[in-house]
Formats: sequence, structure tokens, C-alpha cells
Amino acid sequence: MTIALIVHGGAGSWRPGSDADAIEGTTLAVDAGRKILEAGGSALDAACAAAMVLEDNPIFNAGTGAVLNYDGYVEFDACVMVSEGAQIGSVSALQRVKNPILVARQVMEETDHVMLTGEGALRFARVMGHGDHDPITPARFDDWKHKKAALDIGIGIGKDAKASLKIREFLRKHPEYAGGTIGVVALDARDVLCAATSTGGVTLKLPGRVGDTPLPGAGTYANKFAACSATGTGEYVIRSLSCRAISEGVERGKSLDDSVAEMLAQMTRDFDADVGFIAIDANGNAVANHSTTHMPHAWFRDESDIIAKMHV
Ligand code: ASP
Repeated sequence: MTIALIVHGGAGSWRPGSDADAIEGTTLAVDAGRKILEAGGSALDAACAAAMVLEDNPIFNAGTGAVLNYDGYVEFDACVMVSEGAQIGSVSALQRVKNPILVARQVMEETDHVMLTGEGALRFARVMGHGDHDPITPARFDDWKHKKAALDIGIGIGKDAKASLKIREFLRKHPEYAGGTIGVVALDARDVLCAATSTGGVTLKLPGRVGDTPLPGAGTYANKFAACSATGTGEYVIRSLSCRAISEGVERGKSLDDSVAEMLAQMTRDFDADVGFIAIDANGNAVANHSTTHMPHAWFRDESDIIAKMHV
């Protein structure tokens, strides 16, 4: 009877001096999830509790403090998946709620659907009692103004569809613009695995862009063999269906460590991708790995202390 929980705070390059905040934020999130697991609670409850702590912390790119899109507002993607019964709930391009992960959970528990998007997701959230919440913090707004000006002047693009290619190129050259997405993976005493991921996506994304986070199998996945949450440029994660592939690797007999490492190596080879993963297998082994400079993460297993690090 093993319990374990791991969280990440986004793959990317964290600003110098922000390490202590990221370590504290991820540790607090693990602590919230751990209390639930130790009291015999479910992986789902623990993962959602930890995800909410991260969403409510403005240093992470999820919930309050999430990054702004090209037009200057926040669109959330979030997903939760439970190994038992392959239960999934997901939202994309959702605006103005405090905790997108809870809306995703309600899609799973209260509807027959897997994903709600845009206006429909917002309408559902309001019906579920999520009030209007402005997630834009002054720090994120200033950041957006500065980066948008740099993008417009530095690369000389207008507000047209071709901008997306330039934005991708720009983000590759400046990885500090991405990162901060949050993810949680938990294993409970009933051997149920759960993965939860929540994000504002990538800075300056075109309105309506949907990343890997809300797509089961890409940014979030859980089956009885392993559960996984991804972070980094979502377009590469979608192309690789990374989290599902990592679970499949374990199903075929690979160690979780090898399965994650092989996915990272493949994505580096195929796309030179800036990505990271956290995962837990059915035995409670927790793995974090990434190809970016940083990926703050923290975890515990059974009686262990909580261990928190900026990179592996
Ligand atoms: N994977 C997220 C997305 O592409 C961003 C991130 O993890 O930094 O939307």
C-alpha cells in the first residue's frame, strides 16, 4: 500500500532569484495533497487539492497569474484523468474562473463529455457556481506588455495569422517566455493513479489556441500502469502523444525512468523540443525529467520527506 504524489511548476527558464518561491510553492502543493492521501483520501482529491494550491499561487502559469494571449487576456486549459474507469474531464480556452482544474473535474463528474471549450466551458463553469474571477496580476500584465512590444518591434509582425510561426520562433529563442504550467500526479492507497494539469498556455499565443494540457494522452494521462503530466511547448507534446506513450512504455515492461527518458530523447531528436514530464507508476515510483534549464518539482512517497528541486 504505497502513496505518492509529485508536482511540477512548468518547464522553462525561471528568472534568476525566483528559485526559493518556486521551491516553496511546489512544496506547499505536495503538502496539501499528502495530507489527503495520508488520511486515506483519493488520488483525485489529492491531485486537485495540490493543483489548486499551484493555481492560486501567482508565480505559476495557471489560475491566478496565468500568462496572457496575444490579445491580452487569459485562456485556460486544464485536464484531470483517473486511472480507474479511464475517467477524464477537460476544459480548453476557458476564461475568468479561479480554479480551472475544478471545472475540468466537474466536466468529468457532472457530464457525459470529456472536454468543454470556450464559451460553452465558461457557461458550464458559471452553472457550476464558479464566479467571475480576473486572473490577470499586475506582474503578468506588465510582462505581457513588454513582451508584446518586443515581439511586435523586434520581429516586425502584425496581428495576422502568419504571426503564429514567428511567435513559435520567438519563443524558441526566448524560452523564459514559456513555463510555469502546473501538473500533479498522485497514487492513492487503493492503487488508483490520477494526473492533473492546468495552464494559461504559452505567452502571446493566438486567441483560441489549444495546447497539449487538456488533450488526454498528450499533456495529461493516467492508466493503471502509470500517470503523467507534461509541460513545455504543447505543439510537440501533442505530436508525440507523450503522456500516453510514457504509460504504454511502462505497460510494455520498461521502467518508468527509462520510458520518460526515451520520450525526452525522441522529442529532442525529432523536434529539439523544450519539454518536461512528471510521472508515477503503479508501484509508486516517481520520476521527473525535462530538456529545459528548469522544471521546479517536488514529491514524496510514503514516509519520505518532501523533496523539492528546480531541475533534475
Ligand atoms: N504545455 C503548455 C502549453 O503548451 C505550456 C507549458 O507547459 O509551459 O500550453
